[in-house]
Amino acid sequence: MTWSDHLAKRSSRMKPSTIREILKLTQRSEVISFAGGLPAPGLFPVEALKAATQKVLGEQGSAALQYSTTEGYAPLREWVAEAHRTVPEAVQVVSGSQQGLDLVAKVLLDPGDKVVVTAPTYMGALRAFDAYEPHYLTVGVDEQGMLPDELEAALKEGPKLIYAIANFDNPTGITLSLERRHKLAELARAYDVPVYEDDPYGELRFTGEALPTLYSLAPERVIYGGTFSKIMVPGFRLGWLVAAPELLMVVARAKQAADLHTATFTQMVAHEVIKNGFMAGQIKRVRDYYRGQRDAMLKALSAHFPAEVSWTEPQGGMFLWVTLPGGHDATELLNEAVKRGVAYVPGGPFFAGGGGENTLRLSYSIATAEEIDKGMASLGSVLHEALQSAELV
Ligand code: PMP
Repeated sequence: MTWSDHLAKRSSRMKPSTIREILKLTQRSEVISFAGGLPAPGLFPVEALKAATQKVLGEQGSAALQYSTTEGYAPLREWVAEAHRTVPEAVQVVSGSQQGLDLVAKVLLDPGDKVVVTAPTYMGALRAFDAYEPHYLTVGVDEQGMLPDELEAALKEGPKLIYAIANFDNPTGITLSLERRHKLAELARAYDVPVYEDDPYGELRFTGEALPTLYSLAPERVIYGGTFSKIMVPGFRLGWLVAAPELLMVVARAKQAADLHTATFTQMVAHEVIKNGFMAGQIKRVRDYYRGQRDAMLKALSAHFPAEVSWTEPQGGMFLWVTLPGGHDATELLNEAVKRGVAYVPGGPFFAGGGGENTLRLSYSIATAEEIDKGMASLGSVLHEALQSAELV
């Protein structure tokens, strides 16, 4: 049977993930990879989870293993609601915040609807939205985040949704400034457009005070996506949406059709771990670790990269974004980089509307400080040579 003759039209829009393809390339043990964004496994609270698992099974028994409600485990919803100063009815538990992207797109987007995204943006969001056949309107960014003038121009085209990563963006590491958060909320209100605020990295702040979430500025129209993936463990596939109950009732119907509910057991174990204030220490550990990683990466970049190359200095999160002089192609350079034992993700695929060939994403999440220095020295040498040979042409 030739399966390609039997696929739905939407399947042709389901592109393979560039990151997964690159990760295959970098499986060789001698390659130091800055490509994936895997959380550091040493930060997973294994002992606390072991104890919580025992406790949940001991105290809840078979209830922990039974089907449960689509909306999520009530005490977990209450915990999320409290953090966002809202009611539990405004919380929907999801199987990883990635599922939130899919479900929200499913209930909001018809084919051809317009979605505002930054250029660049999280590739996983583009892939989740793609199945619902939207048209992307792209908005540029600077070091303060999404450019308000370009956002307003996009809003004049009547989009159905604005997608934003306000904190320590994947892929750029950029944070949306306080002023621009207010501006985004004001514009979304003026043009009556919903906003999806994707916030997996918000707790990973290294310096300064937390800025208000977009949800807190416009709770009537912002759908907030949160997750345990970067602050506890990604393997639980446990996240949440916070939004108007009126919308979440529809999202719950879509979720019921997708997977009935998120695993009862993992919700209970996660709640058992967090319920007595465990997260304050856990988040401090996670922040301290990634701050050290970022510092090591920034130091290595200053030491090894050519002066013509620039990069972002993230205040949190797991990524930074490198821009080469125009005309250089990060995809072409990747082969040479991998030969010299270092991998990254070329920036192009993060742009819904094309472009960005001269950019790349580096993750500092799991390499050791020594590997970071060695890896950036190798990549620096590739870049120095590329820049020199360009001068000769
Ligand atoms: N949004 C962004 C911006 C991400 O970087 C990720 C993970 N890479 C996700 C959503 C999905 O995270 P999860 O499903 O593990 O919560």
